[in-house]
Amino acid sequence: LYVEAVLAEGLMLVLEGAQANYLANVMRLKAGDPVRLFDDSTGEWLAEVADAAKRNITLRLTTKLRAREAVPDIWLLFAPLKKDPLHYLVEKATELGVARLQPVVTHRTIVDRPNPERLRAHMIEAAEQCDRTALPELAEPVKLAALLASWPAGRALLFADEGGGEPFADIAPGPAALLIGPEGGFTEDERGAIRAHASATPISLGPRILRAETAAAAGLAAWMSRFGD
Ligand code: SAM
Repeated sequence: LYVEAVLAEGLMLVLEGAQANYLANVMRLKAGDPVRLFDDSTGEWLAEVADAAKRNITLRLTTKLRAREAVPDIWLLFAPLKKDPLHYLVEKATELGVARLQPVVTHRTIVDRPNPERLRAHMIEAAEQCDRTALPELAEPVKLAALLASWPAGRALLFADEGGGEPFADIAPGPAALLIGPEGGFTEDERGAIRAHASATPISLGPRILRAETAAAAGLAAWMSRFGD
């Protein structure tokens, strides 16, 4: 369970609202029952229920199970999609181990500013399900031109180009970012600007046209299968 707190040994934590309801009424936890918590900073802890009331539940932290893990150094740069595909993209990227989610506004992007709170909620839910103790970082939306102009040296920009690119087998290890376009794809000008960037390598995800959210999951899975730990 993710908690917005800095966890420490012996800490007494009172949870209310949905989390208390989940632990007390869905999981029906009683005093003495164990709970695993993480805070995205110190790591994962074992706690035990000190008191389970109707409206809130008190947990006592006992032992630290593991430190916040280092995640593979890959970012996902994506043109924000409509609600359900975006939920799928954020959930799969989190499960696959992405370090950072960066919305990129392109000419054909439909949703310029996705709701960050909703994205964060999907990230947390996915992290709890897949046992991550480190949440992906969620960056502010940025325009494609600004992203390219301020691209950090030393990070490979893997441009998922359905128009053709290198097979994943040729990708070198190292800090990377996977760039996925919107449902309507990149414009020719955008593709030219990306391909012209010194850090960019166009990559192919096969001969078929994938949905953006499929391309994000497929691209991350391909990278993770080679470089993820
Ligand atoms: N141009 C596409 C079309 O003709 O329908 C629309 C874009 S596609 C739905 C969404 C994004 O997924 C693309 O911009 C690209 O980044 C990625 N993508 C889809 N299929 C791909 C493939 N076979 N190889 C590499 N990237 C792909």
